Amino acid sequence: MRSLVTCLSNDSSVCKCTIMYTSYCVIQFFGQSISLSSFLSSLSSLPHTVRDTEVPLLFREPYILSGYRPVGHSWSFYFLSLFQIHNETINVWSHLLAGVCVALRFSVFAVMYGLGLYLDLACLPLVYYVLSLLTYLCCSATAHLLQSHSELAHYALFFLDYVGVAVYQYGCALALYFYSSDPAWRRSRVGEVFLPAAALLAWLSCACCCFAKLSYLHPYPLHRKLCQVVPTGLACLLDSSPVAHRLVSRTWGDDPAMTLHAIQVLLFLLAAFFFSCPMPERFFPGHCDIIGHGHQLFHFLLSLCTLTQQEAVFEDFLSRRASLTREYGECRLQVAAVSFPALVFCSVLTAVIMRRLVERRLRKEDSWGEEVERG
Ligand SMILES: [Zn+2]
Repeated sequence: MRSLVTCLSNDSSVCKCTIMYTSYCVIQFFGQSISLSSFLSSLSSLPHTVRDTEVPLLFREPYILSGYRPVGHSWSFYFLSLFQIHNETINVWSHLLAGVCVALRFSVFAVMYGLGLYLDLACLPLVYYVLSLLTYLCCSATAHLLQSHSELAHYALFFLDYVGVAVYQYGCALALYFYSSDPAWRRSRVGEVFLPAAALLAWLSCACCCFAKLSYLHPYPLHRKLCQVVPTGLACLLDSSPVAHRLVSRTWGDDPAMTLHAIQVLLFLLAAFFFSCPMPERFFPGHCDIIGHGHQLFHFLLSLCTLTQQEAVFEDFLSRRASLTREYGECRLQVAAVSFPALVFCSVLTAVIMRRLVERRLRKEDSWGEEVERG
C-alpha cells in the first residue's frame, strides 16, 4: 500500500526505488517459501502414520491394519501427505497420473485434428466425455488425499467422489451413444431409452453410494456393498451395451477401435472384481497395507481402462465426426448438450444435501457426548 502511495506521489526516483525494494521483498518471500530445504523439512516434520486402532472406526478399512494418517491435523498436513508413504499414497497417485495422461493425450489429439479451432455440436459429446474423465479422476484423488482431516471431511469428500463417478458414467454414455453405437442397436428398445435411462442410473448410483456411506457404519454389512454395487453395476451394464452389441454383431478385422473396446471391457470387469472384493488383503491381513490391496488394484485397472477407452472413443469419433449431425439431427445433440450439466447439477445437489444430513448427525452426536460427559 505504501509503495502504491509513493508511486502516486509522482516522484519518479522514489517510485523506482520503491518498485525495486518491493520486487526484492517479493523475491525473498517466494524464494524462502518454495525453497527445497524448507519443503523437505516440512515433509520430515509430518506426523508418522498410525495403526488402525489409533484412528476412529469410520476411517478403518477391512484387513488394512497400518499406514493410516492421524485424524484432526491441519489441511496442509494432508496436502503435503501427497509426498508421504501411507496406505492412500498409491490410490491418490494412480488417479492423479491417469488424469495428467488423459489431459495430455486429449491436448495432442485436439491439436492434431483441429478441435481447438472450431468446436461444433459433433465435438461436444467428446469434450463432455474428456471432462467427465478428468472430473472423476480429480474427485477420487482429492477424496483419498484429504479424507482423513475429520469425520465431516471424510463424508463430504467421498460424496464428491460419488459425484465424479456419476459424471463419468454419463460422460461415457454420451460418447458411446453418439460415436460407438450401431444404427441397429439404436433402433432397439434399449437404444431408444438409452440416454434418459443412463442419466437416471448415473444419478441413482451417486445417490445410493452417498446413502450407503451415510447409513452403514463399520463393520460394514452386506447391504452396504449391495447398495453401492447394484445401481452402479446396472449403470455400467447399460452404458456398455452399445459396445457389447458392436463386439458381438460385427467382424473385428477392419475396425481398429474394436480391439481397444474389447480390452477396455476386460479391464473394467477386472477392476469391478477388485472393487467388490477386498482381495488379496482378506487372505493376508496387514501385509498389503501400503502396496497391493484391492482398492489400489481397482484404481490401477480403472486408470488403464480409462486410457484404453479414451483411445477407442477417439478412433470412433474420427470415423463418425463428418456424418454425426446428419445421422442424429441437431435437436438430439442439443438435448445431450443440456442434459450433461443438468446431471452434474443434480448429483452435486444430492451430495450437498447428504453433507448437510451428516453435519446435523455429527453435531447431534457431539452434543449427546457432551451431555454424557457432564453426567
Ligand atoms: Zn477410490
